[in-house]
Amino acid sequence: MKIKQANLSEQGEPLRHCSFCGLDQFDVSLLVAGDDNQAFICPACVELARDIIGARRLGLIDAA
Ligand SMILES: [Zn+2]
Repeated sequence: MKIKQANLSEQGEPLRHCSFCGLDQFDVSLLVAGDDNQAFICPACVELARDIIGARRLGLIDAA
């Protein structure tokens, strides 16, 4: 039987990373999970995204 080496947290759950900046759950205050629990985002990346959306609304950057 082949034992798979998993990256486990202290609670025995898989270590989660922010899908945007790559910081893990111990580096950030919280991680927001997507619907499928496959994608996560940390507060710093939420702030960054909000700034980008705000700048776009103000016309400071071009819409994609
Ligand atoms: Zn992040």
